[in-house]
Amino acid sequence: MSETDFALAIEDLTVSFDGFKAVDGLNLYVDKNELRVVIGPNGAGKTTVLDLICGKTRSTLGSIKFKNKELTNLSEHQIVHAGVGRKFQTPSIYENLTVYENLEVSYPKGRSVFGSLLFKMTTEIDARIKEIADEIFLKELLETEAALLSHGQKQWLEIGMLLIQDPELLMLDEPVAGMSVKERDQTAELLKRICVGRSVLVIEHDMDFVAKIAHKVTVLHQGKILAEGDMKSVQNNPEVIEVYLGH
Ligand code: ADP
Ligand code: MG
Repeated sequence: MSETDFALAIEDLTVSFDGFKAVDGLNLYVDKNELRVVIGPNGAGKTTVLDLICGKTRSTLGSIKFKNKELTNLSEHQIVHAGVGRKFQTPSIYENLTVYENLEVSYPKGRSVFGSLLFKMTTEIDARIKEIADEIFLKELLETEAALLSHGQKQWLEIGMLLIQDPELLMLDEPVAGMSVKERDQTAELLKRICVGRSVLVIEHDMDFVAKIAHKVTVLHQGKILAEGDMKSVQNNPEVIEVYLGH
């Protein structure tokens, strides 16, 4: 298979902060319909990889292609436009707006609303908001102010705010941190559903959760790939046990 068959193809990606290589010659390929989990010790460079993909941090070297389009020279806005959505560790929702309103403001702009199409558009957006709310377990809470949601529900809402934009690559940084066991199970179910038709890249520490969702696991250590493969092979890898799982 050539690199062009992958949805996301990262090659030789390197970023140096004052000489310190947080990401060092990384090669990473993620398919469409794939849910990839990246694990590794604190400081391994996991979040930096997401920062590089979404254009928040500029690479020193290397290439990031999404659907064969080079992203490293695009602005953050252009990268979103290319179909990349990213969720940060702390939810960035509008606390004083309702669940409905949070989803509404996230509905992609630029699909112009004019004349007699206005009613049709409004109905379409309303239906889409309800569909997403159902998907993220919040359909009973559409009129609830986001500030009143549990931490887990806020995480789901932010995932919904990304989903409504229908990204083809969705990246989530530690989505179940601070969630209850039940919320973790629901999130696993949600992620398994939403990787259909797109690529999903998740950073996570909770190994029970990783086991539930990962198609493939990439272990990052000191900015480099230490191991990659299915959950079992990674869990049994002596080097992975040494630097990460053993602790
Ligand atoms: P992880 O998410 O795997 O815990 P990070 O990607 O956050 O790790 O960080 C990797 C390393 O890069 C850390 O040593 C961190 O301090 C460093 N780092 C990350 N971003 C920057 C930055 N913008 N400037 C300088 N150093 C950074
Ligand atoms: Mg991190």
